[in-house]
Amino acid sequence: MKKWDYIIVGAGPSGIFAALELKKLDDSCKILMLEKGNPIGKRTCPKRTTGKCVGCNPCNITTGFAGAGAWSDGKLSLSEEVGGNLPSYIGREETKKLIEYVDKLYIKFGADKKVYGMDESEGIKSIRKKAIESNLNLIECPIRHMGTEVGNTIYAELQKHLQEIGVELSFRNPVKDILIEKGTIRGVVADKEHYADKVVVSVGREGSEWFKAICEKYEIDTEVGDVDIGVRVETRREITRELDENMYESKLVYYTPTFDDKVRTFCNNPGGEVSTEYYEDNLAVVNGHSYKSEEKKTKNTNFALLVTKHFTEPFNSPIAYGKHIAKLGNMLSGNKVIVQRYEDFRRGRRTTVQRLGRNNIVPTLADAVPGDLSLVLPYRIMKDIDEMIKALDNIVPGIASNGTLLYGVEVKFYSNRVKVGKNFETNISSLYALGDGAGITRGLMQASVNGVSFARQIME
Ligand SMILES: Cc1cc2nc3c(=O)[nH]c(=O)nc-3n(C[C@H](O)[C@H](O)[C@H](O)COP(=O)(O)OP(=O)(O)OC[C@H]3O[C@@H](n4cnc5c(N)ncnc54)[C@H](O)[C@@H]3O)c2cc1C
Repeated sequence: MKKWDYIIVGAGPSGIFAALELKKLDDSCKILMLEKGNPIGKRTCPKRTTGKCVGCNPCNITTGFAGAGAWSDGKLSLSEEVGGNLPSYIGREETKKLIEYVDKLYIKFGADKKVYGMDESEGIKSIRKKAIESNLNLIECPIRHMGTEVGNTIYAELQKHLQEIGVELSFRNPVKDILIEKGTIRGVVADKEHYADKVVVSVGREGSEWFKAICEKYEIDTEVGDVDIGVRVETRREITRELDENMYESKLVYYTPTFDDKVRTFCNNPGGEVSTEYYEDNLAVVNGHSYKSEEKKTKNTNFALLVTKHFTEPFNSPIAYGKHIAKLGNMLSGNKVIVQRYEDFRRGRRTTVQRLGRNNIVPTLADAVPGDLSLVLPYRIMKDIDEMIKALDNIVPGIASNGTLLYGVEVKFYSNRVKVGKNFETNISSLYALGDGAGITRGLMQASVNGVSFARQIME
């Protein structure tokens, strides 16, 4: 019976950087990575060329080597304030130190050396002033932009490197169950039973529902997390140019006047495209990305507006809540993303093909269905989004214009927050949980840092 030192479930950034660091600290350790999706070279999405989703199972956008990172926009957030809750686990200073370390690794594997948002230009000062005047909180976060295509190449290099240093990678091999004996992990069940001293679950958002079921089955302690629900906004590049040129990724937070809810801008893609992301059961939700090269840029910019919802007793299923709302949208649109003009959103009427046809802004998501988001989103979320757009208009004049496009639903499922100790160990001995799937992180950088931090603590 072969026994591994470590089994890593899920080959996203958190799993990859855990393996990388474990091997760096002990090159003799034996690591098996089990991944539900394909190796990076086989992660092709037909929709990118044909515009039509053929429902690959598993989806090549969210599964496979590099996880959700492979086709992401590849924006590395270099501030510890962005991309997750890691500082509350390992401390602010340690997170900062590890961000620097991981950033250097991304550069070593091919990331662009340019960092956006570092200089204190007159432009940034003016944006900050306008933000304060409009009661918006500007979170300053330097960004290294890999871009989708370069990010993909970097992860391809990482895959090659892991194989060269002896990490065993097994693709199209989803883990179905875990093996526990007397409160200690023994291994996992995938194509067959695999045994290890330590098991790391780093399954991302894609695997969070599976992991939630595992937590329930084996009484792994969790706490109720948040869910972020909202829309993706699309406008012309001219409208957001000042923000984009000065900051690339402007993060603005607003506490809404009516409900005092937190709404934030997220994942800004100047010259980018709005995209559909499919989750289990073919659930279509909206996302966005942009290419690095100027030839591939569009005339539009897109970004998400997300309302953070935290639930209290007796409700404890934020993932199910988010999915329920997304399903409602899918039900009305024939399993697609809905697009609505801001004027129609405000007036409570459907965007029709005719209204969209004469719109100033042409949607980059060609198969989005013109519809009515008020039939999908709860009133509270509609109100929050509307108030945020009005506040944003003071900083980005024109964003509240009639033709601005809102796509729905955008949902971020990072809600099954697993209770872990400092080294990310769960209440099952030698079972560790990392990354987005454990509700710890929300972005590439913090997920990667989470992997490194785990490896260092375990090897201490
Ligand atoms: C379209 C898109 C754009 C994004 N853009 C950015 C960006 O620009 N900047 C940024 O910081 N973040 C971005 N993100 C978020 C970022 O990709 C994630 O935060 C990050 O990838 C999380 O890393 P992870 O390792 O925790 O999980 P993931 O990257 O999700 O990886 C988890 C892996 O586990 C696998 N898995 C799941 N269940 C199982 C199972 N049962 N058995 C085996 N394997 C399993 C999955 O197939 C997946 O490959 C984007 C995400 C998407 C979807």
